[in-house]
Amino acid sequence: MQYLISTPHSPKNPVFSHKTGIILPFTLRIRTMNLNPTVRQFFSCTLQLTAQQDYQELTHNFLDILTGIPWIDSASAYEIYNHERKKPGETSSVRELLIRRFPLDFTRNDEEDYSSLLAEFDNSSDLSLSVPDESGFYTWAIFSIKGGSGPERAIHLEGAFDREKLELLDGLRGIYRNLVLLHDTKERDVLTKLPNRQSLDARLLQVCEHYSDYQVIDKNQEKCSWIAILDIDHFKRVNDNFGHLYGDEVLLIFSQLMGKCFRYTDFLFRYGGEEFVVILNLASQDMAITVFNRFREAVANYSFPTVGQVTVSIGLTRVDSISMPTTQLDHADKALYHAKETGRNRVILYEDMSVLGQDHNPADIELF
Ligand code: GH3
Ligand code: MG
Ligand code: MG
Repeated sequence: MQYLISTPHSPKNPVFSHKTGIILPFTLRIRTMNLNPTVRQFFSCTLQLTAQQDYQELTHNFLDILTGIPWIDSASAYEIYNHERKKPGETSSVRELLIRRFPLDFTRNDEEDYSSLLAEFDNSSDLSLSVPDESGFYTWAIFSIKGGSGPERAIHLEGAFDREKLELLDGLRGIYRNLVLLHDTKERDVLTKLPNRQSLDARLLQVCEHYSDYQVIDKNQEKCSWIAILDIDHFKRVNDNFGHLYGDEVLLIFSQLMGKCFRYTDFLFRYGGEEFVVILNLASQDMAITVFNRFREAVANYSFPTVGQVTVSIGLTRVDSISMPTTQLDHADKALYHAKETGRNRVILYEDMSVLGQDHNPADIELF
């Protein structure tokens, strides 16, 4: 087993930075030690980790295991996004790393300052480390989890670890990484890499439970969540006229446009086929409508390779603390249906339809 250890290249700059840094890799050999208690613990951890049903549960469990280790003071998980951002008034966009802490608290608007974490984080290496003290102990370590279809993840540990302990941690990291990649294949769509419908069900339930548990819906509606179904218009024609391969490319670019238009605190999903879902967080009604209209326009103004112009219809509704998640999705679907019926390339809010008494789908009536 090998470690890549980040070593400070300048005494004035004890914290290794990937922006300025040089990685000096060296190999560690496993030393002989009394493995018996460690092996038992190791199997127990492996058993626990492999029993987790999804990425969220897995990561919670992994953090519990890590913080339960006496020589670890704290353990936090992060997701890292290599985001393309265009500053207002500028034509070219810049790439920047965005970090979000796990689990994401979507009720907080104030973005945490991760600059110190970013300075310590070397995303070209699997492991970034503090400078060891005279006894060879490190005070922090960042393990990077790369690969798979999800974002890059990082585990930040604080405590006191020597190289033997790091060896053990690296083993745990390996198991966690393999399981993360496995969960990604189950929870993410192969083409767009977005979380799939199964992930949406779990996430929407979480969001609804959050609102019903804490009753945090802002009276001024500044801190609401909104669920929207986005359906590409006449997508069948794209396939019929240009073939499935170009259809797939449209879906891929569409998902990338979503990534650019929405914030990293929003949740994006591929719902199935040419349908996508967005859970927009921390937005008033006006803001939600503006954001979805901006996305609708971004799609309409984009020239898709060979295919040209494509439009999207969007139906949305406010996530409330009372209705079932399925009912809320159904409301967004009714709004979408209305957008399709009234000309496509539109954003329709379910609540506006209710006011106008248009929230009855003829199909509903036939059921009874
Ligand atoms: P509308 O404006 O009413 O939404 O019309 P539409 O043509 O978009 O809707 P319809 O439901 O009739 O057709 C959806 C099409 O999406 C049919 C299906 O072949 C295509 N589709 C679904 N999944 C995929 C996919 O993964 N790749 C490609 N290329 N096409 C897909
Ligand atoms: Mg459809
Ligand atoms: Mg469609």
